[in-house]
Amino acid sequence: MTWVTPWAPDRSELDSCVTCGLCLPFCPTFRLTGDETASPRGRITAMAAVGAGEAEMDERFFEMMAFCLQCRACEAVCPSMVPYGKLQEGVRAEILAADPKPARIARRMVLGRGLASRPAVHVASLGIAAAQRLGATRLLPGAVGRMASGMRTVPLPVPSTLGRSWRPDGEPVGIVGLLSGCVMDPWFADVHEALVQILRTAGYVVEAPGAQVCCGALAAHDGAAYDAARMAAANVEAFARYDTVVVDSAGCGAHLKDYGHWTEGGDDLAARVRDATEFVAHLIDEGALPTFPPGRGRVAVQDPCHLRHAQRIVAEPRTVLAAAGYEPVEIDEQALCCGAAGVYGLSYPETSDELGRRKADQVMAVDVSIVASANPGCELQMRGHLGPDIRVAHPVELYWEALSGS
Ligand code: SF4
Ligand code: SF4
Repeated sequence: MTWVTPWAPDRSELDSCVTCGLCLPFCPTFRLTGDETASPRGRITAMAAVGAGEAEMDERFFEMMAFCLQCRACEAVCPSMVPYGKLQEGVRAEILAADPKPARIARRMVLGRGLASRPAVHVASLGIAAAQRLGATRLLPGAVGRMASGMRTVPLPVPSTLGRSWRPDGEPVGIVGLLSGCVMDPWFADVHEALVQILRTAGYVVEAPGAQVCCGALAAHDGAAYDAARMAAANVEAFARYDTVVVDSAGCGAHLKDYGHWTEGGDDLAARVRDATEFVAHLIDEGALPTFPPGRGRVAVQDPCHLRHAQRIVAEPRTVLAAAGYEPVEIDEQALCCGAAGVYGLSYPETSDELGRRKADQVMAVDVSIVASANPGCELQMRGHLGPDIRVAHPVELYWEALSGS
């Protein structure tokens, strides 16, 4: 078997797995099944065998790879530093190239082209806004219905930060670029607003350059590698003038930090990217933003995989919450995936539901009325499983409420 794309799993990276198995207890799909073929080690071994021509790229192989949540919990604990996320994205590019089934092509069109198209996202958001106002989202079945029920109400007119800029009241201390994202703008406008106002308060000019596009994370995760590379190249150009680029969706931030293997100049942009919690915590630590006395109550902290495992950011969301006057409450020391994992719920609704239920049980066990999550997909999953009585909010929203006195 010869790999055919530039993103194919690298032989030496595959060989860096010493098959120690230390990652297995941290892998959600292995924990659910106990099956070696659903483990990181099993998947790496299978990729190596296919790459060496010792095994076929058949349906069983496709299934082994597709069942992976790409949560990267295995990568975070691997003593050999196997770049599992990169390998998994590479093998998905190969699978799409080797077996371009209509369903795969359709997904590629949605994730690789649709999300990159502002008009398409706008029209879809208008449809969702209408369905929400008519109560029609309740009629949607299964995982899609649960995701829809976890959505915030999409405002009308559908908001957009693209091409906008905001200035602080006084003399600026600096300028930062804001990643608008694909669905963050229309579906999570309050998170953008909170982040922008916090940064203005700290003295920054915030700009959301109009030439930026969707980060390409969902495209890369689904094998639409050529589209993902195109989006990465566009963003490298769009954000070239900013020393700091702030991202309030953990999945998008993790992908931007991996741009080095997606496009020329990607490493340079990656080094300037900061997750919103990372940048706000830094400003709090520096004294550029205030801290507030405790007393706002307890908040369960949900660690998005792409914040904790991919970006290795653990302390910062807790710093932001504590500075806002909340008591951060731990729910899962291993930070097992909540089952959202991009569009995983569409392919494996039962697994996604099971992981979502487990995460919701962890929240219920600590008896809180708020959960903090720094990733939109996790937020949807949490809301869908927790129902309306427990609030799910981004840490920067909670900090902005304290800062603005609301
Ligand atoms: S991926 Fe890392 S932790 Fe897992 S078996 Fe291989 S070397 Fe060990
Ligand atoms: S990325 Fe997550 S689901 Fe996939 S092998 Fe690693 S730990 Fe398991």
